[in-house]
Amino acid sequence: MWAQTIETSKVLPSTIHKVSKIFQPINIIPKAGHVKTALTSKSQRLMLDLGIIRQASPGSFHFLPLGVRALEKLTLLVDKQMSKIGAQKVIFPSLTNSNLWKSTGRLQDFGAELFTLKDRHDHIYVLSPTHEEAVADLIASVSQMSYKEFPLKLYQTTNKYRDEIKPRFGLMRGRQFIMKDLYSFDVDIEKAKETYAEVCECYNSIFNEIGVDYIKVVGSCGAMGGSLSHEYHYKADIGEDKIVSCSRCGFNANAELAGYDKCSQCGASDSITVHAGIEVGHTFLLGDKYSKALNANYLTEKGKSVPLQMGSYGLGITRILAAAIEFLAKENEIRWPISFAPYTLIIIPPKKGSKEEEVGSYLVQRVHSALESIDSLKDNMLLDDRIQMTIGRRMVDARRVGYPYVIVIGAKSMEKNPIFELHNLTNDQVLYLNEEGLLVYLRKHLEMNK
Ligand SMILES: [Zn+2]
Repeated sequence: MWAQTIETSKVLPSTIHKVSKIFQPINIIPKAGHVKTALTSKSQRLMLDLGIIRQASPGSFHFLPLGVRALEKLTLLVDKQMSKIGAQKVIFPSLTNSNLWKSTGRLQDFGAELFTLKDRHDHIYVLSPTHEEAVADLIASVSQMSYKEFPLKLYQTTNKYRDEIKPRFGLMRGRQFIMKDLYSFDVDIEKAKETYAEVCECYNSIFNEIGVDYIKVVGSCGAMGGSLSHEYHYKADIGEDKIVSCSRCGFNANAELAGYDKCSQCGASDSITVHAGIEVGHTFLLGDKYSKALNANYLTEKGKSVPLQMGSYGLGITRILAAAIEFLAKENEIRWPISFAPYTLIIIPPKKGSKEEEVGSYLVQRVHSALESIDSLKDNMLLDDRIQMTIGRRMVDARRVGYPYVIVIGAKSMEKNPIFELHNLTNDQVLYLNEEGLLVYLRKHLEMNK
């Protein structure tokens, strides 16, 4: 039936991505050097072994192509939600003048954790871990901003720096990391509280869309200052925060703020559980701490100059990546949330020289073009074209890297109505489906995950 020989390389649509072309240095045998220590984590080991990231120096990492794809997907997801609340994307400079930090007292508060450097004129700059000073100074530099121009929400997704005394757990606590930071400006505290609630709602949507179970807790304001704060956590044994939860009233708080023995909300003492969490997001209602120190003012209707009320909202983009893997992965296999898996699906065609080889190469392009009718699979499928390797060997790799769906074109592809093997790694199901069945199943599951 499949008499014509079709050269795979000639007919494949250009959009199909091939495993053989990806720069992904995999450690086939995990390096003896990765001795499990108190400073390593499962996500770090897996991301290093499977060529997602590569360490450059303690606490700083190269992101390799698969890692970048995951990051870009996550960033896009966040951008879409940010635009829904009217937040505008900007880029603040990484280098900020240390005088700004002096005027808010944070040069001292952050202390040795701040990376500082001196330019040739002996001016000291900060490699910024956060940008409250920079954004307040920006607003202060725009003269005569009217009350009509607020609320204003500005955000960026950029590298941040922190001179960690002991970088650990890979991307979880590095010296350079990618964070999304949003700053809001309002004319009074009531309006600022409304904006705060709106952003928290937006954060809930972001974490729901990412699809990894999270806990939102009352947080501490710490070095940031302000009056109200919430934290978003992923549960993980290596988490450095302790979360106190009350099963009676549903109250969750950072243990720094809550009693271990009694719920500070409802007073119950038999309903408290404590677990470890990784902080992946943090929101602060700052008030006028920064705007006062840096003269970020606006003009009221009557022409009076008044400090703005600020909010600050962080999302640890690289930390979300690592923490999600920490939470979802098996001991030796990554599992990604579908929302930012580097590729949603991988196709494994028959081995070179097998009797299915010819049919297989034809079916690859047929299945690939059929699946492109599903929006979320466009530009999102990978072909394991290393056909010199057995299907089994490539299946092992696909499971280790954790592509959510694996389609194997094996012995049953020779049947008149070819049958494909579909592995759903998220729920460990294996199904045998024809082309139509594949489409129906994937469409249903990928739309469910949207
Ligand atoms: Zn309670």
